[in-house]
Amino acid sequence: MEIVNRISQMQKISREWRKEGKTISLVPTMGFLHKGHLSLMEEGKIRGDYLITSIFVNPIQFGLEEDYGDYPRDLEQDCKLAKEVGVDVIFAPSVQEMYPKGFQTFVEVEKITETLCGICRPHHFQGVTTVVAKLFSIVNPHLAFFGKKDFQQFVTIKRMVLDLNWEINVIGMPIVREEDGLAMSSRNKYLSQDERRSALSLNRSLDLAKKLYQEGIRDTEKIERGVKRLIGEEKLAEIEYVKICNKVDLGEISQIKSEALLALAVKIGKTRLIDNCELGGEEQN
Ligand code: AMP
Repeated sequence: MEIVNRISQMQKISREWRKEGKTISLVPTMGFLHKGHLSLMEEGKIRGDYLITSIFVNPIQFGLEEDYGDYPRDLEQDCKLAKEVGVDVIFAPSVQEMYPKGFQTFVEVEKITETLCGICRPHHFQGVTTVVAKLFSIVNPHLAFFGKKDFQQFVTIKRMVLDLNWEINVIGMPIVREEDGLAMSSRNKYLSQDERRSALSLNRSLDLAKKLYQEGIRDTEKIERGVKRLIGEEKLAEIEYVKICNKVDLGEISQIKSEALLALAVKIGKTRLIDNCELGGEEQN
């Protein structure tokens, strides 16, 4: 496994693989890898000839008050885990390499980023689409893998690729959870024992929503209310949003007719967690 820090070197490797007619998979990450990330890499390994994982804590997707400085980093451990799943190249550029002096070009996907997380994190998705656009242009992958844990991010990237006519297959992967149901996240590291116990209410509330749906309830407000009540019982939890929306464009719906997404963001102490589940319709890929 090679570790590449320079954009020009990454471009050269990809160019050569493309010339050989090989299929390139890319898994973009911010590192501090866990089994959620590794599941994307395993799929990338199966579906492509070569697998590239980028590790880059992207400063422009963090708000001023957010945790960019504190975001957990462990490149050595990440390299070990990536090697075990068969990653061929880790692309780990510096901030200076990605955003040199004078950088001033941003990619923005509009409507889909203005709801859910986009309300409380106004510049977040512009940071995400800009860095992913750069990674796509540097790596030039055939396949790119994203977790549905960040569902809004996944559909935003899909939209960007569609709108810009890039020949990249964006593949969404299921949420990987801890045994007790907590969705894996690099930010789970911030949680104290009590907070972690409170955080389990997120997954419990999704189970409740699925149960209500199975019982035949289609009124989104009714389900949202049940979810909010359950999470609201946790003293350490502060709900940012609980929303059922259309799974394709994240538009508001009042009744679940097909393909709905229940998405939520909750602060547990100082840690902001997101989770979601699909209600009705087939899994989106
Ligand atoms: P991050 O390092 O948090 O930016 O995540 C990198 C990629 O891993 C994104 O596509 C995430 O959606 C995905 N990911 C993070 N956590 C999980 C999880 N628990 N299950 C599946 N994918 C995940």
